[in-house]
Amino acid sequence: MRKIYIAGNWKMNLTFQAADDFFFQLAEYLQDTDAGNTQALICPPYTYMELGTDTADKSSLAIGAQNVSQHDNGAYSGEISADILSSMDVEYCLVGHSERRQFFLESNTLLNHKIQKLREFFIKPILCVGESLSEREAGKAFEIVQSQLDKCLENVKIDNDLLLAYEPVWAIGTGKTASPQQAQEVHNMIRTWIADKYGKQIAIELPILYGGSVKPANLAELLAQPDIDGGLIGGAALNIESYIEMLKIAQKI
Ligand code: PEP
Repeated sequence: MRKIYIAGNWKMNLTFQAADDFFFQLAEYLQDTDAGNTQALICPPYTYMELGTDTADKSSLAIGAQNVSQHDNGAYSGEISADILSSMDVEYCLVGHSERRQFFLESNTLLNHKIQKLREFFIKPILCVGESLSEREAGKAFEIVQSQLDKCLENVKIDNDLLLAYEPVWAIGTGKTASPQQAQEVHNMIRTWIADKYGKQIAIELPILYGGSVKPANLAELLAQPDIDGGLIGGAALNIESYIEMLKIAQKI
């Protein structure tokens, strides 16, 4: 049975104090709760990762980074390596978030190198894929997502230590969510694509998260879809009450 991930992507938000308060309250909640099949995961800014891994030591929380360098350690000011992340007990790392693709011009080839580097250090990549509004309107959503998967996963070891996140770009931070049916349609296409290319068993085990304006009000119907294994959540994961509400919804499934 696949886990359900409630993955918060904090992006470049929250002060140190706010992050500390969030992790403190989250640890209290997780310590008193049977997480069941739900995996709480937070991807904070690098500077708060240690607060997160301290919390993770006391609870079932997992910590992810939002980005990683494709290079080994060395003279790359401002970057962070998979080696450094691994030495900080970081378990997951986002790769190819649409903001990285759009604002930092990250190509599928570069993302492929980042995934390879993460796998070398046993950090689980969460590869984000998704189409823009104009691509969807042109009827190219499947084609774009398949091409991103194809290029980003070239020569990558595929198993359930790799996660995918379908994030339609038009739904990120916009308040617009793909309908559960729209999301399921793409998730099912991705799982079928994985099955055809890598085998049925891998496709059954591989977690595929949905991201794009997920919040407590729409999470349950998204999670009710057979191929949606959790949420990658920006805005609604910045607030501890809303994050815990989403954990509770997932724990009921
Ligand atoms: C995200 O950060 O990946 C995201 C989907 O953001 P939001 O939930 O705010 O749309």
